[in-house]
Amino acid sequence: MNVLLLGSGGREHALAWKLAQSALLDTLYAAPGNPGIAAHATCVALDATDHAAVVDFVRDHDVGLVVIGPEAPLVDGLGDTLRAGGVPVFGPDRAAAQLEGSKGFTKDLCRRAEIPTAGYVRVNNRTEAEAALAGTFSYPVVIKADGLAAGKGVVIATSEAEAAAAFDTMFGGGDAPVVLEEFLDGEEASLFVLTDGVSLMPFGSAQDHKRVGEGDTGPNTGGMGAYSPAPVLTPALERQAIERIVAPTVKAMADEGMPFSGVLYAGLMLTAAGPKLIEYNARFGDPECQVLMLRYQGDLVEMLLAVAQGRLAALPAAQFSDDVAMTVVLAAAGYPGTPAAGGTIRGIDAAEAGGAVVFQAGTRRDGETLVASGGRVLAVTATGADIAVARDAAYRGIDAVDFPDGFCRRDIGWRELAR
Ligand code: ATP
Repeated sequence: MNVLLLGSGGREHALAWKLAQSALLDTLYAAPGNPGIAAHATCVALDATDHAAVVDFVRDHDVGLVVIGPEAPLVDGLGDTLRAGGVPVFGPDRAAAQLEGSKGFTKDLCRRAEIPTAGYVRVNNRTEAEAALAGTFSYPVVIKADGLAAGKGVVIATSEAEAAAAFDTMFGGGDAPVVLEEFLDGEEASLFVLTDGVSLMPFGSAQDHKRVGEGDTGPNTGGMGAYSPAPVLTPALERQAIERIVAPTVKAMADEGMPFSGVLYAGLMLTAAGPKLIEYNARFGDPECQVLMLRYQGDLVEMLLAVAQGRLAALPAAQFSDDVAMTVVLAAAGYPGTPAAGGTIRGIDAAEAGGAVVFQAGTRRDGETLVASGGRVLAVTATGADIAVARDAAYRGIDAVDFPDGFCRRDIGWRELAR
């Protein structure tokens, strides 16, 4: 079977790496892909926002499965277009992708389906926000811009002054959809569950590091590193999260005529009262996908096709290696502000000869040379019998890479390593 993978980041490199191992695969196409993905796929210049062009490509190249990596094409309705054309697609329709695209939508769904999550109020302007703050909330309070904000639209305000500053940014002088939330105390973990809209397939857990600086300090990023599994999400807590959060979500979405097909990535807060939902994403995480793919032992084409075709119930449970996987992101200096572009990258072969798998994100070829072309440049990934072994292997890989313009956090996994 021919498969088309959409996207160009480290997440998509990890998906391409795993899809390429499938016994069912004939040709893997990637659009647009990147130099790392090109080792596993034929990269094509196809614009995912041009739905007609994607449909034409699928028909002309006999593609039997489209895998959508990032969230933007999902929210843009590419899944709907492909499904309407009878193409099996991994990734939800636009309506179902609201679980990621609209925090207000997800909070309202949680309320209707009695899913454990932080108490909240949706507001549209400063007057409403101030009234809600005065009436309902105590500090700290969580203030979130609604809509896709790439992790930059959340403020945890510890005082009235901080809340006022957040309102300045989020409302300006006018109206904007904002969600105010009760602050949840606990440790965060990510749970991944594949669903075809009816059946559920647990697909592993992870913890990531969002802040740019060591000790989880500094501005938020797309993610500086991750490891899988997340031992804090014990089997009992995972069962609870699936029974109380993910399963009722999948059922409510189907009951309301918006069945969700794809991967539900649940961001959980493990509170004293059990797991509560912080947010959903409608696609794999980046860099969580990198660690999941290293541990997943099944055939990814078979699994994602079963999701796309509504056949998950017929498949046995997904198998993951008992090893721990860790990924460390090498970013370009300046990230998450303006990253230095064009820095030379060498030593990927040496890192891989030492046992790491190096997934590429923001890279491009300049003649024979690989150079940086984004904020997060590489995700150096390795496995080990425990987290310390995985960490040592990942950092050996990092140290083998020669990227003078780059930096990474040296403390990925610190919380787990300290336990
Ligand atoms: P991203 O998708 O990049 O994680 P986002 O913009 O979708 O970010 P959220 O995931 O909702 O926003 O929140 C970002 C972070 O803020 C969470 O990972 C968590 O650390 C913190 N946070 C969000 N909501 C709460 C809450 N109710 N209580 C405590 N912390 C929270």
